[in-house]
Amino acid sequence: MAIRRICKYGEKVLEKKTRKVDFAALKKDLPALLDDMFETMDAVGGAGLAANQIGLDLRLAVIKIQREGEEPLSIVIINPELVERSGSLYEDEGCLSFPGLFAKVRRAAKVKVRALNEKGLPIEINAEGLFAKALQHEMDHLDGVVFISRLPLLSRLKLKPALMKLKAQWKKVDESKMKPARL
Ligand SMILES: [Zn+2]
Repeated sequence: MAIRRICKYGEKVLEKKTRKVDFAALKKDLPALLDDMFETMDAVGGAGLAANQIGLDLRLAVIKIQREGEEPLSIVIINPELVERSGSLYEDEGCLSFPGLFAKVRRAAKVKVRALNEKGLPIEINAEGLFAKALQHEMDHLDGVVFISRLPLLSRLKLKPALMKLKAQWKKVDESKMKPARL
């Protein structure tokens, strides 16, 4: 298992629609990839991670929802499609590709999603609340849509200075990681 580098806002791979997964072709490499994705997400305490957030052009994502007093719910979605949506939520959202940034985003309160699971079997997911939000957020990633583009124009403009500041910081961190360790 290995922790992968998470792409940050500004990297082109985040704004490109991902390619549908050919399950048979990916099957052999999938367990190791999913282990890495869960490990990477856990390392930063995320609730979801899309393959293009670690630079891979694949329509798949992992989600892990922790509810108080319950076992975490972990799920893999491969080639997900939204088939139904209803209701509305307007809550704070964050993203591993925008560390430190939170903003209120309008989402459907309930969704029905069809996908393949990690075994390549078709699944149908009925989700609400945080789980529904996570599914919509990850599916947006897979379509090349980052959460801030869901914000009204005025909110986007207000966030811009904070975003530029954060962007400069992410850049510094990533560059320092590329330098060899000092002895
Ligand atoms: Zn995200």
